[in-house]
Amino acid sequence: MSILELDGVTVAYGSVIALRDVSLVVPEGGIVCILGANGAGKSTLLKAVAGLVPLAGGRIRHNGEDISGMPAYEAVTRGIMLCPEGRRLFPLMSVLDNLRMGAYRLRSRAELARRLDRVFALFPRLGERRQQIAGSLSGGEQQMAAIGRALMAAPRLLMFDEPSLGLAPRIIAEVARIVGEINRAGITVVLVEQNARLALRLSEYGYVLESGSVALKGDSRTLLDDPYVKAIYLGETTADDPPRPTTEEQG
Ligand code: ATP
Repeated sequence: MSILELDGVTVAYGSVIALRDVSLVVPEGGIVCILGANGAGKSTLLKAVAGLVPLAGGRIRHNGEDISGMPAYEAVTRGIMLCPEGRRLFPLMSVLDNLRMGAYRLRSRAELARRLDRVFALFPRLGERRQQIAGSLSGGEQQMAAIGRALMAAPRLLMFDEPSLGLAPRIIAEVARIVGEINRAGITVVLVEQNARLALRLSEYGYVLESGSVALKGDSRTLLDDPYVKAIYLGETTADDPPRPTTEEQG
């Protein structure tokens, strides 16, 4: 059963077509990664699913139901959560208040406390720093806080936009571990990453976006061995004339 399905999705910003006829499937409980260069349309894809940008064409289904054009707050209610690029924390608010924002619709204090406990169990440093203002956290801590805030909404589908961006290797490894742990807890993950090696190692299936279209898709292991992916996204060859997409399931 797929938790998410995009069928021919097109998104435009005025005359700029950011996504063109994109179809993809995310199986329940899996990790699917989306690779692509700057401007390929990765963030736009996540925003379209989260109800943050309107569709110019195509359909988005969640658990088989058409959610195309659904407003962002309804997507959140359905358990679809975006952990945005650049963290987007409220820098002058405390860590605790930032986390509470992730569950702002929740009325039960007991449930709020349970969710906070879960986040602090996953990120003990956030627990220690709960009263600190978010803007004064390190980059890695801010990424943890952004993930924590997304988890506060108790998502079933969590979409990460470039969680490793700007972080030191040690912190990237920690983020990768956390993404795996979140997935093992039963949350389906969509992972947008420029760090293609990391994303393909973490995921079971991958899509490569180029100029707003799916250029390539396949099992992550197959993509890791694909000469085109190696040359363009993993930097493993320096061929002047890189191979064309070769994966069987391309397009
Ligand atoms: P990056 O890795 O740099 O974040 P991306 O793959 O996430 O890139 P998007 O941010 O989805 O790419 O952008 C896709 C295209 O849409 C780009 O050409 C970008 O300039 C354009 N675009 C994105 N947001 C807007 C906007 N609000 N208004 C106009 N054009 C936009």
